[in-house]
Amino acid sequence: MIESTPRVGSAAEIAAELRRRDAFVMVSHVKPDGDTLGAGLALGLALKKLGKRVHYFQQDPVPRNLRFLPDSQFVSRDLPPDLPDDALFVFCDMSDMGRAGDYLPPLARENVLDVDHHLGNALFGAYNFVLPHECSTGTVVMHLLRELGAEVDRDIATCVLTTIMTDTGGFMHSNTTPEVLELSADLMRRGANKEEITEEIFLNKRVAATRLLGRIVDEMQFGHDGRYCYSHVDDAMLGETGADGEDTEDTVNTLRGQDGVEVAALFKAYDGEIRVSLRSNGRVNVQAAAKRLGGGGHFRASGLTWNGALADGIAAVERALVAEGL
Ligand code: 5GP
Ligand code: MN
Repeated sequence: MIESTPRVGSAAEIAAELRRRDAFVMVSHVKPDGDTLGAGLALGLALKKLGKRVHYFQQDPVPRNLRFLPDSQFVSRDLPPDLPDDALFVFCDMSDMGRAGDYLPPLARENVLDVDHHLGNALFGAYNFVLPHECSTGTVVMHLLRELGAEVDRDIATCVLTTIMTDTGGFMHSNTTPEVLELSADLMRRGANKEEITEEIFLNKRVAATRLLGRIVDEMQFGHDGRYCYSHVDDAMLGETGADGEDTEDTVNTLRGQDGVEVAALFKAYDGEIRVSLRSNGRVNVQAAAKRLGGGGHFRASGLTWNGALADGIAAVERALVAEGL
């Protein structure tokens, strides 16, 4: 049944719907990270073990540092021609459907399940399972796996631990609660390879990425008595260093990590668009600031797309941050 007012379902209701369907498409967001992809793969692997047909849709290719994830070789931008009409599209880690990109066919709302942990999720599915207190979408998925009675094997454990380590910044962010550490320990006992995840996601950098970081650091600007730091990346900087968009992934955290910096912004002006990554130390709500400009995310980590000139974007983002208390 389609709810007239969107609401969050219980784990039992969502699990019942998962049992009822035979075919699934796990959907991850553009510029995918370890949470959106790991969550979809974890649920997909579990559904396959229950005998279901599972596909993985993602507009962008799997980033180099996530190719170790089990089943990631099956991720594609193409859907099979013989997909049944009642296949359930499971959107993972997206506060709105637009984050999936432009390549999905129009979907009936009753075929949409929204699984997420973002503040201000639009509850865009007929079924919504959104738990904003969870550290990652992967730990949201864990509630469904428990409800389904699915065995968490080594592969599923690896996917879920990847979501946790991605969204806690390797157990560094404030969302790293005792419960998160207990669950992570359990996932390690089930065979999740923490060393491999650390190496792939946090340690292993291409030389080009480090050179690009150097250029981004060269371009750092400070304002508001050193509490605000921003920089940018453009096509020329990528060209000079041999880096690509994937190599910019966590550089904004270097800006935020400078002494005295409370809020950082990285303007990524390449591939014909300007994407902005915002990070906060916890005083200024960057989700609210991003929302003022059509984006979203979390209190301490958010993003948006700026349509216009870079200089105007820099000014608009600063105004939005000031409005949120910078
Ligand atoms: P990142 O800076 O790593 O791209 O994104 C940080 C956080 O903000 C992530 O949780 C991401 O999902 C969210 N985010 C990034 N860009 C957008 C956007 O354009 N719209 C919304 N709603 N959320 C975004
Ligand atoms: Mn997430």
